[in-house]
Amino acid sequence: MYRELRAWSFIEDVVDRLVAKMGRKMHRYATAIDVVQQKLADTFNSLVKDIRPNPLAAKGNIALILRRNREVLDVQKTIVKYRKEVIDRIQRDIGKQHEVFPNIVGSYVFMFHHHFDVLEYRVISVRLSDTLRLADHLLGLQDPSLGVQRQGLKMLEYAHKESMACIEYCQEALDNEIVSTSPRIDTEIRLHQIQFGLVAKAIRSKLSQSGVPQESELSSSDDDAIEAKLNTVSEICEHYPDSHKSFMASATEFGQLLKRESVVTDNLRIPGVNADEAREVEKVWSQYEVGHLKVCTRSHPFSATTFAQGCPECGKKVMTEKEVYQHTSAHLFEDRFLEAMRKIGKE
Ligand SMILES: [Zn+2]
Repeated sequence: MYRELRAWSFIEDVVDRLVAKMGRKMHRYATAIDVVQQKLADTFNSLVKDIRPNPLAAKGNIALILRRNREVLDVQKTIVKYRKEVIDRIQRDIGKQHEVFPNIVGSYVFMFHHHFDVLEYRVISVRLSDTLRLADHLLGLQDPSLGVQRQGLKMLEYAHKESMACIEYCQEALDNEIVSTSPRIDTEIRLHQIQFGLVAKAIRSKLSQSGVPQESELSSSDDDAIEAKLNTVSEICEHYPDSHKSFMASATEFGQLLKRESVVTDNLRIPGVNADEAREVEKVWSQYEVGHLKVCTRSHPFSATTFAQGCPECGKKVMTEKEVYQHTSAHLFEDRFLEAMRKIGKE
């Protein structure tokens, strides 16, 4: 018994340290995305100055664009590699140990794989936004040979394919039931999926405006599909007023954008997902204090000192006003019914 207890506390300590490590990394990569996003914004003007709209410069222009793309792509690759080689391995190993020694190794539901999915969607979104901005600029340049315009259209076609693939990619993540145990992750993925849908829609409009024939591949990014997704997000946000304010703001912004067709068509600037509150929580993960490992009712591990308010994944769910009303009116009805029955009984 004593030996088992000792082994248990040893394993708990190992898990605690691994959770701390994964949390710190998550925050570090989130910051790396900020840095590369800022750099893209800072260097945009100097890049477009270097692009020369004439046929002789085509090769040079492509090299410039590729070099710009490479840096942000590197951040994306590092995130994916870490998720695959470190996060997934840790999660798998601890899971296996639990199967073999259920009395010694606890059952944990780790959310880090999905946190890293979110990071990947964020960095893809940064890259796509930059591509759209650049392509829009190229399309507006005066080049008699139409070389830069062709380059711009090619970039848009590629970005369209990628955004359509990302809609499916997000869906695969959302189909995993574990994702819904963390309303923050769940909602952010949903918003990224909506954003990819808006990007695809904006590109399609721009391409057809530029005379490029469009296949009618609309299903997952047409208005109705996006609107249905927005409604789901709003419903979730209403249940989490403390943690989902920024997500709600994004949902509202995307909803307005969806209604204003011309804004999407004329300028290819689709806003990113506002994840301020999620980012705050990621910052707290970087200050994780070991030695206080706790597991919530959904088996998410966390540090009880660092997250004194409770599990950072679960969040605080509240009933919406409508639900409160329905709940109380159901009770009122029950009470009235019982009262009426009692009266009849007395008669
Ligand atoms: Zn939890």
